[in-house]
Amino acid sequence: GGKLYLVPTPIGNLDDMTFRAIQILKDVDLIAAEDTRHTQMLLNHFDIHTPAISFHEHNTAERIPQLLSKLQSGQTIAQCSDAGMPSISDPGKELVAACTEDDIPVIPLPGPNAGLTALIASGLTPQPFFFYGFLDRKHQQQVVELEELKNRPETMIFYEAPHRLKKTLKTMQEVFGKERRVVLARELTKRYEEFLRGTLADANEWAQTQEIRGEFVILVAGNDHPDQDDNQPMGSPIEQIDQEIE
Ligand code: SAM
Repeated sequence: GGKLYLVPTPIGNLDDMTFRAIQILKDVDLIAAEDTRHTQMLLNHFDIHTPAISFHEHNTAERIPQLLSKLQSGQTIAQCSDAGMPSISDPGKELVAACTEDDIPVIPLPGPNAGLTALIASGLTPQPFFFYGFLDRKHQQQVVELEELKNRPETMIFYEAPHRLKKTLKTMQEVFGKERRVVLARELTKRYEEFLRGTLADANEWAQTQEIRGEFVILVAGNDHPDQDDNQPMGSPIEQIDQEIE
């Protein structure tokens, strides 16, 4: 019968593709890829000739019935995103839900993931951890989200686009306070991989002097004094820093 394979792909370093992932991509009838052109480069590199169709956030609704009918007719499909694990801040979850509802087997492969890769080298307490993914893009909504997370004791994992990193770090400092520990994991598995570790004040100071390039995971230490309010009163150094930046 039909089966859906969830196939993680490299987050930068092609050598992180597993033997099993390559084999599954070769063996399935069809690959449902977030971006077929992007995935085609991977397929070419590993000499995989399986046909691929697009499956992304803008065509999920129309694709699901098409993919389900192929699966029901006995075809095997591998779903992958541009990088890392499908469904983790990436397309996939609706298809998985549809398959589980229709009793179509869903077979996940282990593989690359930016958040966990960053976490294990961060030096922050690796567990418990709280995976958040992307915050909202709007400042006001970010503040609301961060306020909810502020007293959590777990190490928190965030994704962010490079062009929003500066602003997001600033908002994190506004809400979590300048002393909260943070680790920026940059360009994981790639040539310029780098870890920046310090307080949110350090991270902001660093970010303001940089042209932000590359991909980042932001890891924030959990709150170990949840009763204390980390927010600084008016006229504190944070206010002064904000003024300097703006
Ligand atoms: N599905 C992916 C996973 O399992 O990690 C995440 C995809 S999400 C659309 C992309 C975000 O993941 C980036 O904005 C960045 O925060 C993070 N990311 C992906 N690759 C990375 C890398 N090589 N180094 C650091 N962060 C990365």
